[in-house]
Amino acid sequence: MSIKQNLQNIKTLLPKHVALVAVSKTKPVNDLMEAYNAGQRIFGENKIQEMVNKYDTMPKDIEWHMIGHVQSNKVKYMASFVQLIHGVDNLKLLKEINKQALKHSRVIDCLFQIKIASEDSKFGMTSKEASEIVKSETFSELKNIRIVGLMGMATFTDDENQVKKEFNYLKDAFENLKLIKADNYQLNTISMGMSGDYQLAINCGSTMVRVGSSIFGARSYH
Ligand SMILES: *Cc1c(COP(=O)(O)O)cnc(C)c1O
Repeated sequence: MSIKQNLQNIKTLLPKHVALVAVSKTKPVNDLMEAYNAGQRIFGENKIQEMVNKYDTMPKDIEWHMIGHVQSNKVKYMASFVQLIHGVDNLKLLKEINKQALKHSRVIDCLFQIKIASEDSKFGMTSKEASEIVKSETFSELKNIRIVGLMGMATFTDDENQVKKEFNYLKDAFENLKLIKADNYQLNTISMGMSGDYQLAINCGSTMVRVGSSIFGARSYH
């Protein structure tokens, strides 16, 4: 099936309140343009340099989301245009994003990545660590970032109950963390669900799904 057809099929399954991030990592600009021409405007990449290259050549009404692990020293390359950074899991990174956003007189929206998978390899923090950051004095001084939600990646497994448990955990964390009040903190987004599990994620409260291979086909490398 074509990229356009894949997109249309997925969109018919998404409730109105759920945003679709088309995960285009490793895919050529031609493929992204096919999705763009079918109306898609949110694209997710996991490498900063690749995202910058695509940003440079593609139409400027695209929302670029950084969904991968972010190294502090590379934030500067995307600070002028990135719409949402999904993978923020420490205060040092948040301070660097704030610093670079300030240089461009912007406020950059971010999600806290919460570790929900049982695997060691996934990045993320506990919801306790998230709440400590939000309540810290340092955080209150970061005027050029705004935390708008949480992101999580479930364990890579066929065990649907396990995945469901992890999604429910993130939803609970969201409801609890939402109660904290701060100027640069306004939780409204739960980024969870990928090609294999986005429908389950939506049933568990996701408001933003990150779908790659179901739109663009399998990737030959990660
Ligand atoms: C690659 C990736 C996705 C998309 O994965 P698919 O299974 O191809 O839909 C979603 N989220 C993150 C963080 C990713 O790195």
